[in-house]
Amino acid sequence: MILLGLTGGIGSGKSTVSALLASRGAVIIDADAIARELQAPGQPLLVTLAERFGASLIDESGALDRAALASIVFADPEALKDLNKIVHPAIAVEMDRRMKEQRETDNVVVLDIPLLAENPRTGLSGVVVVDVPVDVAVSRLVEFRGMTEDDARARIAKQATRDERRAIADQVIDNSGELSALSDQVEAVWQWAVTLPPAADDAGNRVPTP
Ligand code: ADP
Repeated sequence: MILLGLTGGIGSGKSTVSALLASRGAVIIDADAIARELQAPGQPLLVTLAERFGASLIDESGALDRAALASIVFADPEALKDLNKIVHPAIAVEMDRRMKEQRETDNVVVLDIPLLAENPRTGLSGVVVVDVPVDVAVSRLVEFRGMTEDDARARIAKQATRDERRAIADQVIDNSGELSALSDQVEAVWQWAVTLPPAADDAGNRVPTP
């Protein structure tokens, strides 16, 4: 298994790059998608969330009321810490399980992790960062994802800076241009990725936080 870390700020085009890599044969392990799966109706994680934040978080259909949870943690830093303590380890366990399934293969496995710069990982074969100027990210989030400009800027301000992300990159993909230019760069990254050494045996383990 060749193990790539893929990251980028919100609106950078990380999901687009991930899809382009998948079309070349990469196996994608997507932290956000796993988070959504683990919080789907019937998942045990919902019981834990309801125990901490109240049963009213789960609606009649058994789904998590994300808006209610967001407003609780937005107003209360302790609640946010607790939420992270519940959700992050569960995501990490599931990501590790999916990686282990791939360990003996020759696949290029891509860990799609929005907050990789904030939460470093050891043992990756390489790290790819998708980079755009903040104004470009904001205008794409407004145009294609229906966000307000203020919301887009507030979300970007909460994440690592471009410099912080670029500092962990082996390859930087500049997505300030057309989609065709993005595709060309992804092809180059793919050609680089397939030459990388396999991931270390302890790959993917989180660096213990002090
Ligand atoms: P992220 O996953 O980093 O938040 P996305 O891949 O969802 O970002 O990209 C944000 C939006 O911008 C999407 O609607 C995507 O289709 C669009 N997009 C991505 N790259 C480009 C590009 N080079 N030119 C125009 N639109 C783009």
